[in-house]
Amino acid sequence: MSSDRSYAGKTVLVTGGAGFIGSHLTDRLVALEARVRVLDDLSDGREDNLADAMPHIEFHRGSITDPAALDAVVPGCDMIFHLGANASVPRSSSQPDYDFRANLAGTFEVLEAVRRHRAGRLLFASSAAVYGEPQTANGQMGEDHPLVPKSPYGGTKLAGEFMIDAYTRCYDLDHRRVRIFNTFGPRQRKYVMFDLLEKLRRDPAKLEVIGTGDQQRDYNYVADTVAALLVVGAHPRARGRAYNIAGGRPVSIRALVDLIIELTAIPRPEIRYTMESWPGDVVRMVADTSRITEELDYKPLVGLEAGVRHLIDWHRGQFAPPW
Ligand code: NAD
Repeated sequence: MSSDRSYAGKTVLVTGGAGFIGSHLTDRLVALEARVRVLDDLSDGREDNLADAMPHIEFHRGSITDPAALDAVVPGCDMIFHLGANASVPRSSSQPDYDFRANLAGTFEVLEAVRRHRAGRLLFASSAAVYGEPQTANGQMGEDHPLVPKSPYGGTKLAGEFMIDAYTRCYDLDHRRVRIFNTFGPRQRKYVMFDLLEKLRRDPAKLEVIGTGDQQRDYNYVADTVAALLVVGAHPRARGRAYNIAGGRPVSIRALVDLIIELTAIPRPEIRYTMESWPGDVVRMVADTSRITEELDYKPLVGLEAGVRHLIDWHRGQFAPPW
């Protein structure tokens, strides 16, 4: 379904809009002629992510944990994309208190502001981390998979989902939840793909990779994730439902390393896998995406290879690597 015409003239708030996914969503909403407000405390986001959008949006620097900051942006909203969060699993295990405040207390305050101001629809950016390790024979996780998070981050995202569900029953909220699997692309300055490119920038001859290389991920390019957010946000059928968002083409970290080396066109470096990962890491994170495909007619258009090419181009423009 095309959601493109649904946003023109609408007042849309993006919490976390200066972050990686939020800034791409903001750019797209501006292009679709929405009236966009962004609330971000810049704890992880950057104003320069919004360089193109800034003349066309209302930017508010503030925290979702602050009711006054929310009172400045929520009234009159037709739609809220709630992305503001600690988005890092490792940070949630090293600083669970920070994760709790941003992700659960913050989501509670967003819900309260929606209730106070009778704002419109809410889309919550949840995560594949709510599932934990796959418990299915084929390793794929659909939306009905058991919810067994193994990191504080997965726990706060899941608690946020339950809270939104309960608010919906109690106060008749119009909400949707998305469980995002790994998204990648320009402006993401952390995690596996960025780290690999940074290591290769510093030394194209040697590459240390965290883990065994066997971890599997279901990467989605950021423009494809944004397209999914817009479809879920607009589609009447999505009301009250949860949707996986993923690329649908699982890849091992080892295969990803090979792809990056191929696309950067450098001679094959000496590669060492550390064989150890971080607490809360999930070995196989692969989505069953049939619900979003069948119910909302969504398919990623860019895909892994073209997406990695875009990422490498951006990296070259930003950091001038020797390749
Ligand atoms: P990001 O860190 O780039 O963006 C999060 C944004 O939220 C940042 O700009 C940060 O400054 C802001 N923020 C943090 N705490 C805040 C607070 N208290 N008040 C206001 N703003 C605050 O992360 P991202 O990758 O763009 O993720 C966006 C959303 O999608 C997050 O909710 C994340 O949990 C979810 N998600 C992302 C992925 C992924 O692969 N990137 C996967 C699953 C879920």
